[in-house]
Amino acid sequence: MLDGFARSITYLRISITDRCNYRCRYCMPDGGIEKCAHEDICSLEELRDMAAAAVRCGVKKIRVTGGEPLVRRGAVDFCRMLSEIPGVEELCVTTNGSLLKEVAQPLRDAGVTHLNISLDTLNEERFRTITRLGTLQDTLDGIKAAERAGFAKIKLNCVLLGGVNDDEIADFVDLTREHPWQVRFIERMPMGCGKNFGTYLPSQAVLDRCPELEAVSHDGVAACYRLPDAKGTVGLIAPMSHAFCAECSRIRITADGKLKPCLHSDAEITLRGLSGEELEQAIRRGILMKPERHHMDETGVTETHRGMFAIGG
Ligand code: SAM
Ligand code: SF4
Repeated sequence: MLDGFARSITYLRISITDRCNYRCRYCMPDGGIEKCAHEDICSLEELRDMAAAAVRCGVKKIRVTGGEPLVRRGAVDFCRMLSEIPGVEELCVTTNGSLLKEVAQPLRDAGVTHLNISLDTLNEERFRTITRLGTLQDTLDGIKAAERAGFAKIKLNCVLLGGVNDDEIADFVDLTREHPWQVRFIERMPMGCGKNFGTYLPSQAVLDRCPELEAVSHDGVAACYRLPDAKGTVGLIAPMSHAFCAECSRIRITADGKLKPCLHSDAEITLRGLSGEELEQAIRRGILMKPERHHMDETGVTETHRGMFAIGG
C-alpha cells in the first residue's frame, strides 16, 4: 500500500519485548528501564495477528526485534508463526547475539531468513563497558553459530560512538576482507540515552578513515561499499546526515500493540483489541499518517517519548 507521500510500505518491524539482558549505555538508562507492565504486553498470538493484517496491507518483509527479542519465551515459535503467514518473503531478526549460540539453528529451522547482530566493539573490556552486562565471546560464538546454521548475508550492526569505538572503524572494516558479512555502521540517534554516550559521528567518518572503500550499491537504507577483493561489504546507515525518509518503507509495532508510523514521531495507533477488518483499517490509517520526514537533523532531538529499547530500532 502507498502512504500519503507515494512511498510503498512493505516492511514491518515488530518489537516483541522491551526487556533486555544488556544495558547498552546509548540505549538504556543506568538504573534499568521502567518496563511495560506484564498485562500491557501483547501475547505472541496477538502480535502474529497484527503482523498478518499488515501483510494483507502489503507488507512483505518482517523484522523481529526488541529489547532483546530472544529473551522472550516463545520467540522461536513466534518466528515460525510469522514464517507461515502467506506473503511473507523475508523474515529477519535483530539481536545482540548473546543467546544465538543456542538458538541460531532453531531460528533457521523456524524460517528466519536473515540475521542482524549488534556488535559495537571487538575489545572485551570495552564490550563490557558499553553493554554493562555483556561478554564479547558470547556474541562472537553467536555469530559462528549463525554461520553454522546456514544464515547467509549476516549483518553486523555497529553504532558509531565518537570517542568510544571510532578507533576501531578500520578493524571492523577489515573483518569484511575474510568474512562474507555486511558490517553496518549506524549513526547514533539522539533518543533517550543515545544523547549521552559517546559523541555523534557522521557516517562519512568511515570513508575518511578507509579511503580504499569503493561504492557498490544500496541495500535498503544502507549505502554499500567494498574493499578491493573483500568477501563482505560495508554498509553506512545515516539517519542523521542523510535522512532516508523519502525512501522509508517501514512501519513498526511495539510489544504493547501500538502501530508507530514513524520511528521519531510520537503518533501511535492502538491495535490491541482489534481484529479482522477493523485491525486492517487501523493499519491502513497508520500508513496514511506517516509523516513526510523526521526533523532530528534540525532540532537534534527525536519527538518520540519511547526509548530505542521500546521500539526496536
Ligand atoms: N537488542 C537487539 C540488538 O541490540 O540488536 C535489538 C534491539 S536494538 C534497540 C536494535 C538496534 O538499535 C541495535 O543495533 C542497536 O545498536 C541500535 N540502537 C539502539 N539505540 C540506538 C541509538 N540511539 N542510535 C542508533 N542506533 C541505536
Ligand atoms: Fe539491549 Fe539492544 Fe538496547 Fe543493547 S541496543 S540495551 S542489546 S535493546
